[in-house]
Amino acid sequence: MRSFRGGVHPPYNKATQDRPIERVSPPERVVVPLSQHTGAPCEPSVEKGQEVERGQKLGEAKAFISAPVHTPISGVVKEIAPHPHPVLGEALAVVVEGGGEMEDWPRGDVDPDSLEPEEIRMRVREAGVVGLGGAAFPTAVKLSPPKSIDTVILNGCECEPYLTADHRTMLERAEDCILGLRLVMRAVGAERGMIGVEANKPDAMEALRRASDGEVEVVPLKVKYPQGAEKMLIKALLDREVPTGGLPMDVGVVVQNVGTAVAVTEAVRDGKPLIERVVTVAGEVGRPGNYLVPIGTPFSYLMEVAGGLKEGVSQVVMGGPMMGIAQRSLDVPVVKGTSGILFLREVPPAEEGNCIRCARCVDHCPMELMPTLFVKFAKGERWDLLESAHIMDCIECGSCAYVCPARIPIVHYIKLGKLKVRSLK
Ligand code: SF4
Ligand code: SF4
Repeated sequence: MRSFRGGVHPPYNKATQDRPIERVSPPERVVVPLSQHTGAPCEPSVEKGQEVERGQKLGEAKAFISAPVHTPISGVVKEIAPHPHPVLGEALAVVVEGGGEMEDWPRGDVDPDSLEPEEIRMRVREAGVVGLGGAAFPTAVKLSPPKSIDTVILNGCECEPYLTADHRTMLERAEDCILGLRLVMRAVGAERGMIGVEANKPDAMEALRRASDGEVEVVPLKVKYPQGAEKMLIKALLDREVPTGGLPMDVGVVVQNVGTAVAVTEAVRDGKPLIERVVTVAGEVGRPGNYLVPIGTPFSYLMEVAGGLKEGVSQVVMGGPMMGIAQRSLDVPVVKGTSGILFLREVPPAEEGNCIRCARCVDHCPMELMPTLFVKFAKGERWDLLESAHIMDCIECGSCAYVCPARIPIVHYIKLGKLKVRSLK
């Protein structure tokens, strides 16, 4: 079966994979940060005290690499102020109070072949669609590649443990995944569409094949972390290598997450902005599951929806356990990049030992790097040597730290090293 070199096999713990997506009643108060994406924050387009309708724009994207944000509820703008943020620590946000039930957004109709690429890009941009796999890169920018693209790949791997939001999306929204893929292909002028899915999701593959009518290739991939990383996916599906410092477009490819494809469909077909997303809530909660959550919903609210905490939780992570971000507060809101929220029991503190030069980190690195050198240079403050050791190629997947018998927090040293390399430029 197709795959890539290196990688690891963490326990998948995907206990929520059979839990259908459940819509969450919106809270009375949402906190919508003006920065939920890679690129420039957007600028407020409403004022304190203003009444807003569900789906109305709250922030306008003024830069090319940016995305507008919209309110998921109707109500009144209570304040525009800094607020805790799950990625940035703190960021300017628009607080809306109101509520009411979230009804299904009215469905439109579209023939992807009848739309001009520019029209697709414009609708995707206006809807504030960003990559929902975690990186939150503005999708309209990805749909405007300065290079020729022959293949669009949808990423349906979801190789992070615990997370099942993409799995459920493929099962329950297969037709919208396929339509989103066709819209992206039309926007970038690609002839070929592929969906890479880890082989442990045969039901999702079957649903996608049925929905695609044979137009796109649904390809099973080996179950291995980080199979869903863009470069690994391209290698596995097309046997193309993205060059050092390069992007998928350098090898004629655009990659989108399956959830993003659904958001593209909703933006283009229905005129629906990105105001809600599927979030896996897992770990030590009463009712783990996959929830369709209004953007701006506080983690604390979602925790109650999911049945409240069980005993012994000491760690809250946004995203998966391998690449997710530990949270200090439950006041932070769900943002566009929130694929999951994990409530985990205390992990015994890892006592860092000395490197025993076993080379396991090297053997398992999917990018064929030398993580042990990154640790050595970072500890010795030899920042000058890190760049030539290709530290900037590291995708921070954590496979090296996962296998290290000395329990060295290698990704911590890598992040520090990257910061230093950038600051010295
Ligand atoms: S060095 Fe980077 S890419 Fe390689 S295994 Fe470690 S975190 Fe992953
Ligand atoms: S896995 Fe850990 S102990 Fe082994 S070489 Fe890499 S850093 Fe050193």
